[in-house]
Amino acid sequence: MHHRFKDAPLFGIAIGGTTLLASVTYGWWLVVLPVLGALTMGGALRMHPRSARPELVGALSFALLELNIACSVLVSGGGSSPLLPLLVVPVFSQAVCFRPQVTRVWVALSALAAVGAVTLAPLLPPVPAPSVLLQIVGYLALLSCLALAAQYLATADVNSRHDGVVDPLTGLLNRRALERHFAEARASAVRTFKGVAVVVCDIDRFKAVNDTLGHAHGDLVLQDVASRLVGAIRETDVVYRIGGEEFLVLLPGQGVEAAMTTAERLRAAVAASPVAGLTVTISAGVAGAYGGGVDLGRLTAEADRALYQAKNAGRNCVRSTDHAS
Ligand code: GH3
Ligand code: MG
Ligand code: MG
Repeated sequence: MHHRFKDAPLFGIAIGGTTLLASVTYGWWLVVLPVLGALTMGGALRMHPRSARPELVGALSFALLELNIACSVLVSGGGSSPLLPLLVVPVFSQAVCFRPQVTRVWVALSALAAVGAVTLAPLLPPVPAPSVLLQIVGYLALLSCLALAAQYLATADVNSRHDGVVDPLTGLLNRRALERHFAEARASAVRTFKGVAVVVCDIDRFKAVNDTLGHAHGDLVLQDVASRLVGAIRETDVVYRIGGEEFLVLLPGQGVEAAMTTAERLRAAVAASPVAGLTVTISAGVAGAYGGGVDLGRLTAEADRALYQAKNAGRNCVRSTDHAS
């Protein structure tokens, strides 16, 4: 689910920016709430890929952000606050990531927060009426957050998430999803005579992590590597977990040259800094084809051969069947 959190800061900027503007009307001390919100979101984004229970990190950050917005609603007029509609934003952003049952709980909690803020606000001293600018900015913040969430829902393969195509450990799609998506990429390649490339990545000497630090630590490494791979690709590319410590990145419309650059970026993203406290590297094999020549079995077999060459060349490097780099 991590990749869907990638743009979470945009939601934060919309809500935080509106609350900052509200502080002009309701008091400068209100600035403290967007700062706390930014810390919550920053902490969640950092901890999410590393945590053994990422769903708990998501739930906790949701609850804290909802509480944060509810506080700003409370002190800015309750029912008449231009910040009140923003309480729906965390619900929408979480709905993109969780099952419908979980979303129902978020809806109930958000409603509770709204009712609490609206009913308690009259107990506080009266506040000035919101400026026209604040009302407009509040509306635009809500509009942009909902548009962003709707866009996620439209592009995310939400239906297939319920068909056993999501790997529970990393939140990545699995091999079954790859087979479905590849058929679409192939049809598009045949239509447009463009390329399709794949990068097969394998964590180097991963067995040693399990052997020395245990399987649970190995799982943390897998989650962090998955998250880094997702962070290093374009929106149109997809990372799949196709085996224990093996990932495949599908690059529709790319040729081998461009795929080599992507593969190098993936390798560098993992090697850049410690993964779950360890020096971890990956090796990658790249293969590509054009138009009617695009075939999943053939491409993965070629990429596997290139990966084998990368392992033989000393690991932490990228190879393609065409040429070495
Ligand atoms: P190489 O550099 O040649 O790829 O060496 P390697 O040790 O990475 O390769 P090998 O195939 O020997 O080991 C892969 C290990 O991945 C063995 C297996 O126990 C581990 N593994 C597979 N799936 C999981 C998983 O879900 N969690 C954890 N922690 N380990 C896993
Ligand atoms: Mg392997
Ligand atoms: Mg390996």
